Amino acid sequence: KAKSAGRDSYAFYSQELTAQAQQRVEMVSALRVALERDQLRVHYQPIRRLADGRLIGFEALVRWEHPERGLVSPGEFLPVAEDSGLIGGIDVWVLERACRQIQQWLEQGHELDFVAVNLSCRLFRRTELEGQVARVLAATGLPPGYLELEITESAVMEDPDTAEALLSRLRQLGVRLAIDDFGTGYSSLQRLKRLPVHKLKIDQSFVRGLPADQNDIAIARAVTALGHSLGLAVLAEGIETADQATFLRDLGCEYGQGYLFSRPVPAEEVERLWSPV
Ligand code: C2E
Ligand code: MG
Ligand code: MG
Ligand code: MG
Repeated sequence: KAKSAGRDSYAFYSQELTAQAQQRVEMVSALRVALERDQLRVHYQPIRRLADGRLIGFEALVRWEHPERGLVSPGEFLPVAEDSGLIGGIDVWVLERACRQIQQWLEQGHELDFVAVNLSCRLFRRTELEGQVARVLAATGLPPGYLELEITESAVMEDPDTAEALLSRLRQLGVRLAIDDFGTGYSSLQRLKRLPVHKLKIDQSFVRGLPADQNDIAIARAVTALGHSLGLAVLAEGIETADQATFLRDLGCEYGQGYLFSRPVPAEEVERLWSPV
């Protein structure tokens, strides 16, 4: 009896795996179609200086406007895109879109310091990345200093030598570099000290518990101090309350982004904020 139950549950388990694999295959082909039919969108989340609330830039975040499912978040389709190799095309598309967009906003006279674009760790390992970035900058006419590239701490630490070399080459292009999701990726401080980056982004998981949680306080304070002692700017992600913003500002964290200020929104909505109605 036990044996047959075991076999049944095995059969059930493998059926479930097959269903999952099937879903992935379907998602990959749907994503290909999405790229062809222009179903991807870029939303922009404002980044503010905590001292005075000044808008300094935006982070570009990809979404998939699925004809039946509506807006699909990157957490759902980027892992599949990474596995299937489609991610490179997506990231370069987002990069080009975002550079064009900020260039347009600058030409309209808006004072912005940068647009931040995320790079997947897979793209990041490709050696031709700096050539692609250079081509997008040339094609859009955006001065390199207005582009900030975000690489997660765990992507860097997965292959630190390659990452360091690539970051150095990117830096030579004149772009800005930020370490994303900092605090989740087990950085070696020795390594961090050598990375040619400009900014650390404190992961939102450490912001959530502020200003009450003692562990989050300790981590936010330590990361801010670490960043500053390495000469880096520090930004906190996922700020949802005014108390969190005040607390981080008082710690000396310079920049912030989060639902308190705004959710990521389409470019038209950013423009509606600016243009007098
Ligand atoms: P990330 O780069 O760390 O981006 C921050 C994420 O936190 C975004 O989720 C943003 O919508 C969300 N967020 C912002 N403020 C708040 C807040 O106050 N509270 C909470 N709970 N969340 C907040 P999103 O847009 O779903 O993106 C998730 C991740 O997907 C990003 O994390 C990034 O790693 C990746 N991603 C997004 N767009 C791209 C892209 O174009 N290329 C690549 N390679 N990765 C991307
Ligand atoms: Mg990011
Ligand atoms: Mg992050
Ligand atoms: Mg993240």
